[in-house]
Amino acid sequence: MAGELLFRCAVCGIEKKETNGWLMSWVKDGVVCFAHFDGRIALESHVTCLCGEAHCHTVLSQALPQISKPEDLTEEIEMEREEK
Ligand SMILES: [Zn+2]
Repeated sequence: MAGELLFRCAVCGIEKKETNGWLMSWVKDGVVCFAHFDGRIALESHVTCLCGEAHCHTVLSQALPQISKPEDLTEEIEMEREEK
């Protein structure tokens, strides 16, 4: 256990203690990503820590203006199709 590291929910500001169920979020190339909390990944400056699912909704709402429109994603979707 790293112990001294302090993580706070980006929405409500509470400190992460032993409680599980924390998540993290980041925006990459116009796509909003959510994942279960990982102490190493959460250290990266572009990653937002969240105390639970409810605050993922808040982050998602805030990120909506930055995310890709379907036409921006067409290429990626086609690439995935070809791989299958
Ligand atoms: Zn919170």
